[in-house]
Order: sequence, then structure tokens, then C-alpha cells
Amino acid sequence: MDKYRIGYGTDLHRFAPYRPLYLCGCRIPCRLGGLLGHSDADAPVHAVIDALLGALCLGDIGHFFPDTDPEFENASGEMLISRTLAMPAFQGWELANLDMTILAEEPKLAPHIQAMRESLAGLLKTDVSRISIKAKTGEGLGIVGRCEAIDARVVLLLHRKEDGQN
Ligand code: MG
Repeated sequence: MDKYRIGYGTDLHRFAPYRPLYLCGCRIPCRLGGLLGHSDADAPVHAVIDALLGALCLGDIGHFFPDTDPEFENASGEMLISRTLAMPAFQGWELANLDMTILAEEPKLAPHIQAMRESLAGLLKTDVSRISIKAKTGEGLGIVGRCEAIDARVVLLLHRKEDGQN
């Protein structure tokens, strides 16, 4: 029986004016507005969900939370992560650690890193010491650099709980 499983996920959403910006479940002020999407478009949370699903070879976020389903219109990251972790396949596993990079030209994310770590730890029901979040700009290049989108990339490790743990 496997003791460890690694997962990798990415997500990219384009900016849209007049929408609130949510990253890792945090509402973050941004002059460009928020991100476009059927849900609340929390790209880092979506990348985490893809990494969780990938670790257990379950498919991807679109399979479980299709953007054609009205139930998920404006769905929060909190709702999507809690539904993911409630799947039977995740019982018996816990997060060893998660490492994320968010690529965004704007807003500057450094002042929000700790709040995002704490928020994501809460969503994943784990300790903040297991959550790493880094932010980079696009150096003015590409869709991130032109302030057209925010791109999130995540790798995480799950390990099997000891017998008797829930
Ligand atoms: Mg997404």
C-alpha cells in the first residue's frame, strides 16, 4: 500500500473588472478587479484541488465541478475544497506539505502571503507550517506580465494516516 502520493495542479484565470479578487479564499484588493470564472475564480484553490485529485489519480476539477452546472455558479474555494476532501478516496490521507507559486503582475501579493497561508491551511484543515505560498511577477512578459491573468501552480504531498487516525 502506498505511503505517499504526490500531486500537481495549475490554474489560470483572466482578469475581469467589477469582480472581487479571491486568492486562497482571501478577498484581496486589486485595481484590475477580480478573475473571470463560473465559480469565484479562485485560481490558487482550483490548482490545489487539481493537485489533490491528481495525487490520487481521480481526474480533474472540471470532472467533479463542471462549469456548466448552475450549482457551482460563484462557488467559493471553501465549498469546492471541502467537497473534494469529503470524497471517500481522501479518507485515510493527510497533507504532508504543499508548495504553491502564484504568478501575478498585480496586485502585489507579498503583504497577503501570510493571510493566504492561514486561509489555505484552514480550508485544508492543516497547520500553516505545512503550507508554502510564493509570489512572482511575469516581469512584464506574457499574459501574466501584461496583467491579463493570474496563474497558480501547486505541488503537494499526501501521506497515509497511521492506523486508527481519522
Ligand atoms: Mg479555475
